[in-house]
Amino acid sequence: MTEFEIIKQYFQSGISGQGVVLGIGDDCALLQSQPGMLQAVSMDTLVAGVHFPANADSELIGQRALRVNLSDLAACGAEARWFTLGLTLPEPDLPWLQGFSQGLMKAASEYNISLVGGDTTRGPLSITIQVHGEVAPGKALRRDQASGHDNIYVTGKLGDAAAAVAMFDRDISPSQDDSEYFLQRYYQPTPRLKEIHQLASWVSAAIDISDGLVADLGHICERSDIAAVLELEKLPLSDALKRSCAAMQSLQLATSGGDDYELCLLVEETASSQFEAAAAANHIGVTCIGHTRAGSGVECTFRGKPFPINTQGYRHF
Ligand code: ADP
Ligand code: MG
Repeated sequence: MTEFEIIKQYFQSGISGQGVVLGIGDDCALLQSQPGMLQAVSMDTLVAGVHFPANADSELIGQRALRVNLSDLAACGAEARWFTLGLTLPEPDLPWLQGFSQGLMKAASEYNISLVGGDTTRGPLSITIQVHGEVAPGKALRRDQASGHDNIYVTGKLGDAAAAVAMFDRDISPSQDDSEYFLQRYYQPTPRLKEIHQLASWVSAAIDISDGLVADLGHICERSDIAAVLELEKLPLSDALKRSCAAMQSLQLATSGGDDYELCLLVEETASSQFEAAAAANHIGVTCIGHTRAGSGVECTFRGKPFPINTQGYRHF
């Protein structure tokens, strides 16, 4: 199959979403932003053997590739609109492409985002997606707007995706049901787009947890010039995680394991009760796990005592 046949067969679905004046098939896509909105743009690359096991089911890879990018749009409070796909393949493996494009398009239709272009090349398997969202000026959530008197919240549960990675590395061997749950959390993270649109007005700063809670919260502290205190006994852990690991290991996975793509949200103390009420009214699971103060860095405590934890997030270099 040629490059052009691949594009036509698997990626040129012909559906044109909101604001797509011209999609796949020309030198450029032509996109119409809504008047007065800012574009939020983000890119993530997934390399086989680094970001997913090389032999993983291609439908799951397609799902995950788009979902992790959508999580960045959620973290800045943007609405998903358009994406482009840079696909590098060792060879045109048709069953692989069939599964991959199905997974990708399933996630695209679930989150209402249109594939508008890309590039297809030969080489070691890697997937780059660039997402474009829209956000009203003044509504974008940033890392540099936290204060020294915020409460720290996370959505969902932490550590489940890291438990899947620990399974790949044979560090843990959970029951069949728990294994399936961890794999689902790893391959199909939930970009918290709907959730953030309900909660954004109370949030002072946000980040999505891709590299590990402590590392990612550390980015907010650095950009906002504040310190954070995490109370580890408050971390939301799934029953599956509690069953599958020793207590210390589950805290380690929840604080320094990446790949959960939950949001870490900072909310001024005075706005916290309204924020929690909005979360409850919209059935959004959020947990308060600590607070900020003047200073720098992230301090971990357990029942009020300092708690040493190896917290360096994943680093490529
Ligand atoms: P050019 O040579 O002008 O860069 P290409 O031949 O690479 O264009 O691609 C032809 C069209 O197909 C373009 O519209 C491009 O955006 C699109 N395209 C290429 N690869 C992909 C892909 N993997 N997914 C979606 N669209 C793609
Ligand atoms: Mg090209």
